Amino acid sequence: MTASEDERSATARRLANWGNEAGPAFAKARDPARLATAVVTLHRRVDEVLATTIEGHGVRVACARGCSYCCNLRVQVQPYEAFTLAAWLRKNFSAERLAQVLGRLKANVARTRELGEEQRKRANIACALLGEDGACSAYEARPAQCRRYHSTDLAPCKAFHATHDEAIEAAMHQAVAHNADVIITQGRHAVRAAGLDDASVDMNEALLEALENPKAWRRWKDGKKPFVGRQER
Ligand code: SF4
Repeated sequence: MTASEDERSATARRLANWGNEAGPAFAKARDPARLATAVVTLHRRVDEVLATTIEGHGVRVACARGCSYCCNLRVQVQPYEAFTLAAWLRKNFSAERLAQVLGRLKANVARTRELGEEQRKRANIACALLGEDGACSAYEARPAQCRRYHSTDLAPCKAFHATHDEAIEAAMHQAVAHNADVIITQGRHAVRAAGLDDASVDMNEALLEALENPKAWRRWKDGKKPFVGRQER
């Protein structure tokens, strides 16, 4: 068996295992500590399947620390990621740093609302968690969509950042993106099976609510939509 075949079977095993693991992982997600463990496990499984798929298909990923074109795009998260990211920020950021993040989140939310859906797609709005060095300040706890996003060629990333020409497509490797999607989707199914909302929401909106509005958590844990009035899909 070649190394590549080894990696491909490792990927298949990871996909199948998470299918069995996700249900029990999210079944007790109403408890914040268990939710945090479930989300960390989800993120770990996304990272693992990305690594084995990249290895198995011999993909050359062009992304590097400090390259942040994609951190100006819209990021969608599920409520459970927003709550765990909010908890991670409270634990790991000083009060001053957290206040800065809150200020940036509010500015991003205001700008996004002012622009509307279509114009937002053609605007660069730096993520509230993007550091001045171009690196993610919450890298360890970043959402699954950020983990999944990758590029095999920086040229389209740069070109889209500069022009917002919708004809420019990100150079993502199909199998890599697909396998990460499978893990993310299995997680969402498990959350839904536990009677909890899994709808995707703009990260700025969701994180701001998760940090500032205790009612959002209570609504989610009661099986309701946590971010009332937020755009979702
Ligand atoms: S959370 Fe981190 S990786 Fe994701 S968009 Fe924001 S800065 Fe970039």
